[in-house]
Amino acid sequence: MRVGLYGGTFDPIHDGHLHVIRELISRKIVDQLLVVPAGEPRLRENAPVATGADRRQMCQLAVNSLEADIKSKVEVNPIEILRQGTSYAIDTVEAIAATYEGATISLILGTDAYEKIDQWHRAEELKKMVEFIIIDRPDFPGQPNLSIDALAVSATDIRSHKSDQIPAPVAAYIKEHNLYASK
Ligand code: ATP
Repeated sequence: MRVGLYGGTFDPIHDGHLHVIRELISRKIVDQLLVVPAGEPRLRENAPVATGADRRQMCQLAVNSLEADIKSKVEVNPIEILRQGTSYAIDTVEAIAATYEGATISLILGTDAYEKIDQWHRAEELKKMVEFIIIDRPDFPGQPNLSIDALAVSATDIRSHKSDQIPAPVAAYIKEHNLYASK
């Protein structure tokens, strides 16, 4: 059993993320995928714009919009949103390892995120606990180990209204809650 852990700010979740999710499940690279919106990531220059509750809700709406055979293997896990204080990947991995005893845990990262791995909390221990699936991202440097023809979209593009590549229910949520209006 291979459990994929797909963490990110997801501020907001977009079609690029959903493409990653679909590829990982349909190509059977992981058996189960946990989408884990971050609480307060310490490496980000700017704190997330939307609240944890909003980012979690948008992730859930996006997962609900997936085809049934994909959706049945994906869940949004709020562990980092619900945790007080800084959230570290290793804490999340330890919690997931305890829940999915005996499973191999794969951390899914874009090349941009993987570049910073050595700065992560307890990075050496983390590297022993997980396998990394490093995904190519157009316009970002780095060495991927999985090629999926990733989409050229970022949450920054969405927040600044340069792209509208998001699932319709997420677009509706953003509008309804007036998120990113002044960005
Ligand atoms: P921002 O523009 O706010 O930095 P982002 O679009 O990079 O956000 P994150 O929530 O930081 O989104 O990304 C979560 C994870 O998904 C990271 O590992 C990131 O590398 C990866 N990722 C983001 N966008 C894509 C994409 N278009 N294709 C493949 N991977 C992506």
